[in-house]
Amino acid sequence: MARTQALHNWTIEDSIELYGIRNWGLGFFDINANGDVVICPNGKNGPQISMMDIIAGLNERGYTMPVLLRIENILASRITAIHESFRKAIKTLGYQGEYRGVFPVKVNQQQEVVENIVQAGRPYHHGLEVGSKGELLAALSLIRDQEACLILNGYKDEEFFNLGLQAQRLGFNVFFVLEMPGELEVLLTRAKSIGVRPNIGLRSKLSAKASGHWTDSGGERSTFGLSIGEIVNVVDTLKEHHMLDCLRLLHYHLGSQISNIRDIRTGVMEGVRMYQGLVQEGAPMGYLNLGGGLAVDYDGSHTSFSMSRNYTLDEYCTDVVEAIMTILDEQKIPHPHIITESGRATVAYFSLLLFNILDSSVIEERPIPEKLPDDAPEALRNLHEVHSHLSLRNLQECYNDAIYYRDEIRKLFSTGQVTLRMRNLGEDIFWAIIMRIAREKTHLKNIPRDLEDIDASLADIYYGNFSVFQSLPDVWAIDQLLPLMPVHRLKEFPSRQAIISDITCDSDGRIDHFIDPQGMKMTLDLHPLKKGEEYYLGVFLVGAYQETLGDLHNLMGDTNVVSIRADADGSYEYVRETRGDTVADILTYVEYEPHRILEDLRTTAELAVRHGRISPSDRYAILQAFEDGLRGYTYFER
Ligand SMILES: *Cc1c(COP(=O)(O)O)cnc(C)c1O
Repeated sequence: MARTQALHNWTIEDSIELYGIRNWGLGFFDINANGDVVICPNGKNGPQISMMDIIAGLNERGYTMPVLLRIENILASRITAIHESFRKAIKTLGYQGEYRGVFPVKVNQQQEVVENIVQAGRPYHHGLEVGSKGELLAALSLIRDQEACLILNGYKDEEFFNLGLQAQRLGFNVFFVLEMPGELEVLLTRAKSIGVRPNIGLRSKLSAKASGHWTDSGGERSTFGLSIGEIVNVVDTLKEHHMLDCLRLLHYHLGSQISNIRDIRTGVMEGVRMYQGLVQEGAPMGYLNLGGGLAVDYDGSHTSFSMSRNYTLDEYCTDVVEAIMTILDEQKIPHPHIITESGRATVAYFSLLLFNILDSSVIEERPIPEKLPDDAPEALRNLHEVHSHLSLRNLQECYNDAIYYRDEIRKLFSTGQVTLRMRNLGEDIFWAIIMRIAREKTHLKNIPRDLEDIDASLADIYYGNFSVFQSLPDVWAIDQLLPLMPVHRLKEFPSRQAIISDITCDSDGRIDHFIDPQGMKMTLDLHPLKKGEEYYLGVFLVGAYQETLGDLHNLMGDTNVVSIRADADGSYEYVRETRGDTVADILTYVEYEPHRILEDLRTTAELAVRHGRISPSDRYAILQAFEDGLRGYTYFER
């Protein structure tokens, strides 16, 4: 679409398509007639809540950006969906076991999140999976349902086992999953001494391996889990101790975000054979735990691309149930209860990061003088020449020449042979050339590779009020793509191409890859900033992993967190609010003492008074400013 035409004819439908909101939003997000993003807490056909309405409410309550917004209904809806999908598959296929979901606490350990999960999962006996003593204690404080499974993974020491065994005595439905051969002896000793017969599970290494970022936990060389030989040894040891009847569960975890359903099926088949083998060894078993891996379609492409998945939740459940049945029916082995540890797919959707744009940096096209000053150096004249002769036929040549002469001018500047003004003129001419090439190249049938990349280099930089390191760590660490878009002005044509920079002073604190149905794009379509008006963007699907991996880069702390809960009529309330870290809070995390900082400043100020540099009332105002600073939000406050 030509730009002028787009400018006038842009519709909400165009925004829906451009940002793919209906592809990745799972029906939870859409755009209303006003051009604002809306949340549909109960799915497509329910009421809609305008994001701008929520933001207005946040502003009134004094919550400044960035804000992590959680929508409790979406979390509940995801848990229901997983259970109902499994129930449907189990019923349709005539499977004899039940489905028992557990939430792996490491995916989002925040107290209110885990509490929400436990509440929403109550009707389904949804349990928790923990990988450390800390997570176990957190889980014990929240689980009220003694039928819900409590899966103990991770490398466990004596104390970890003690905690689990005592929890079992209290009535919790604990499963001890052995990850390492050495754990068995500790468990047996502790169990005998406490007088508890534990439910034992085995984590098996499978030879099946899924492709993708997070899947190193699968495969024979995975760091966790028992090899075949070790499994056989565990069985023998249990037999010796007359405790084979405690062996109840087989577990494997292929890794997270498994995009290809084929990998999931391969894993289940191998896992079921393992299960079969243990039953044939005489263990009672009864539970098959498939771990996590259920993927999220971050880019909405519905493909096996690593940021997507080529299956639906229903297909996942049907495939899993069917694969288990097929093998076990053949062997006349009773169907086990199925456990999955879906983390990402459970919590990704229910939270999003809202932030405002503070400023933008735009490469401006400056008018180029027709004649250069008489003292212009040779390289500058040549560059000017390139500008005059540029045409559709010599784009690549002009591009190469422009870069050559620009570099030449920079070199001469470094050796003192070109003045500041001349170098500035050189940069102006260079960018004028690049911008003309960018416009002209759209008329080419085949665009050379070099020229394809030009758009990204001409992109605006929009400065967002957030820290990638704190709020979107996977974007920085493993190039995670997340849906990112403006949450308003979606009736307007987004005429700018931009990348996003955060407010840390780290050059890695940027987002320069964006989702696209055709793969990935290097710039994001955004609206020009308006003076005196905030521009808000949202990063969606951030509920999984991002919160607790965050770090204190540049001492940017936790953001404000606000949860909303919607009622059936579309009204909603702000149910929980957690103020983000203050500057004093995060200084404390890195072992400073805010009152000592103030003490030191007071001394310095008193000295300044004594030397007559400031008055005592200046001193008061200055110290007041420092105190306010310590109490303030770590992000940019207007
Ligand atoms: C991380 C982890 C999970 C969660 O995986 P998702 O892909 O987020 O569902 C489940 N089980 C174990 C053992 C894990 O380590």
